[in-house]
Amino acid sequence: MINIFQPSVGEEELEIIGKVFQSNWLGKGEYVDKFEKQFAENLKENREFFLSTTSCTEAIFLAGDLFDFKKGDEILVPSISFPSVATSILSKEATIVFCDVDSRSLNVRAEDFEKKITSNTKAIFITHYGGVSCEMDEIITLCKQHNIKVIEDSACAVQSFYKGKACGTIGDMGMWSFDAMKILTTGDGGMIYLQSPKLMEIAKEQLYYGLPLKQKSGLDNSDNGSINWWEFELNRSGRRAIMNNITGAIGTVQIKKLDTFIQRREEIYNRYYKELKGLKWLTLPPQLKEYMVSSYYFFWIQLEERDRLAKYLLDNEVYSTFRYWPLHKVDYLKKYNIDSYPNSDKIAATTLNLPLHQSLSDDDVGKIIGLIKDFK
Ligand SMILES: *Cc1c(COP(=O)(O)O)cnc(C)c1O
Repeated sequence: MINIFQPSVGEEELEIIGKVFQSNWLGKGEYVDKFEKQFAENLKENREFFLSTTSCTEAIFLAGDLFDFKKGDEILVPSISFPSVATSILSKEATIVFCDVDSRSLNVRAEDFEKKITSNTKAIFITHYGGVSCEMDEIITLCKQHNIKVIEDSACAVQSFYKGKACGTIGDMGMWSFDAMKILTTGDGGMIYLQSPKLMEIAKEQLYYGLPLKQKSGLDNSDNGSINWWEFELNRSGRRAIMNNITGAIGTVQIKKLDTFIQRREEIYNRYYKELKGLKWLTLPPQLKEYMVSSYYFFWIQLEERDRLAKYLLDNEVYSTFRYWPLHKVDYLKKYNIDSYPNSDKIAATTLNLPLHQSLSDDDVGKIIGLIKDFK
């Protein structure tokens, strides 16, 4: 079977995990710090704006804490979004307001949500689908006018840029995923971008039990009254979602390979594009704009007979899928399905993601293209 996604981990990752074991400190420490620093440098950003966590979902839930989502707040959600976006809003008892997306890029555009803005609109979650940036200038301008926070789910956009600025660093908050199916993987993991030092401080406390960042301790020589070192205070009802040295160490190795991973993915993406372009019954993703840099996380095609092609590929040992099933079609969220979302419906009926990962051989790619050409 040819997998749709596949991690690339090996000797170097094993070796560094060995070093962490030898250091006798598995918790958050120097390897996590190094990974955060490398991640920031890779995006040409300030290290202080980055904080690692256990998953992108954790970061998405954190957004609701930081921006204080509550009952009565309306949060804009493109129907083609990751499920955690919706559940994070429900956990705060805020209201989900679905909007449609562009039918070919699957990205949300300012025009898709402009008419849904009310005085209660507090934030929007955007997703850079498949590692391709949304049109951020229009989105940021519109959201600034209405005082709406922009939260960038950049799970697919680990090294994507829009007009020279990294996806995930353009809005008020950004987050990335290192789960087992992402380009850069640490098994599980996530990264957060926050420019506001105040919000960064809250985030750090929230993800570590709610302990005050500046905790007084009886071990300090400073004047701390009469407290013992086992006493503590709490600043908020926090959780525990920090990265540890094992996953951090894997990250420090993976990030060095990222350029090679993405180069290979781009090669495969371009070959799909070139060899499938001639098929009249297929719609391909829009051409990448010259001011965008993609991470090439997905390659997708659109066709009337999507279901039949998916089964045909599977019968021939090629796994394909569709990401992301529109949230307005999910039963659990049906209360918020109060409008029509024609583009998302069309996407859900016609879109197929093809295998795209750095371990695909030229023969694998040739086989997939051959099968698709023979399909009709
Ligand atoms: C993978 C993914 C997530 C979730 O990431 P986790 O680290 O698994 O929580 C969120 N959004 C998008 C767009 C994703 O692809």
